[in-house]
Amino acid sequence: MPVAFISHPACRLHNMGLGHPEQPARLDAIEELLHVRQLHDFLVHHEAPRATFEQLARVHPREHVEQLSTISPAEGLIRVDPDTAMCPDTFEAALRAAGANVLATDLVVTGEVRRAFCNVRPPGHHAERAQAMGFCFFNNVAVGAAHALEHHSLDRVAILDFDVHLGNGTEDIFKGDRRVLICSSFQHPLYPGNNPGSVPGHIVNCPLPPGSGSDAFRRVVTEHWLPALEAFAPQMIFISAGFDAHAADDMAELRLSTADYAWITDRACDVAARHAKHRIVSTLEGGYDLPALAASTVAHIDRLMAG
Ligand SMILES: [Zn+2]
Repeated sequence: MPVAFISHPACRLHNMGLGHPEQPARLDAIEELLHVRQLHDFLVHHEAPRATFEQLARVHPREHVEQLSTISPAEGLIRVDPDTAMCPDTFEAALRAAGANVLATDLVVTGEVRRAFCNVRPPGHHAERAQAMGFCFFNNVAVGAAHALEHHSLDRVAILDFDVHLGNGTEDIFKGDRRVLICSSFQHPLYPGNNPGSVPGHIVNCPLPPGSGSDAFRRVVTEHWLPALEAFAPQMIFISAGFDAHAADDMAELRLSTADYAWITDRACDVAARHAKHRIVSTLEGGYDLPALAASTVAHIDRLMAG
């Protein structure tokens, strides 16, 4: 069964200024290494559609979407927080990044592909219901998960988030929605600052202190994520695939290796095989050291293709 690779040229045009770590070259680094490893031709390539207003409105209020559309600049940059800015191409990129998740969900649920990876930016997991922040405007993975629940009538989806930062936006959006199990590992303390704790059977938050490496990461996944996933039996798995916990990434101080990303992908594939008809939609979140980002993402995609 093939794996889809979904992106859009607009995602490369979103540019928050020279020197910003969330830069267009991130997507190119991943695609170039897919070519070098000769995996590129074995993926099923799709251009992301724009998410529709109806699809966005499942997780964001109308005012949030309209406000971003309204403030979208004709030239220059408009800041929405100290680290997050819109250029003239940002709104279109954000629509495509969210739309990639809708298409990925459709392709995976209908069985056209077994799994999908969305090579998109801006990322999404910090975007709360009504707040763009932390390089994020729309919560791409939440838009996909809500599409699976509402449009495809699934009853249970899991979201795995191994980005080094807490996915505060995803937790804000699905808080109290027992159709969604969120498993997250993140450095604490670190942006966005809080550690909201876990809710049994719904949110599994695993904070890791700075300096934690492979053993600590694999331990929390084995001891906390996997039992929760087994009990929940998700019908589909979404992954907020951030690679900024890599030892080479200076955004934080976790010490994960490229092999850890292959390992966690294998664990996700195991769960998906048992409970979810192999269905996985994975989406790029963080990851700022370009060689480590490319190596880790390609290791992740390689395991999505093999599992
Ligand atoms: Zn991050």
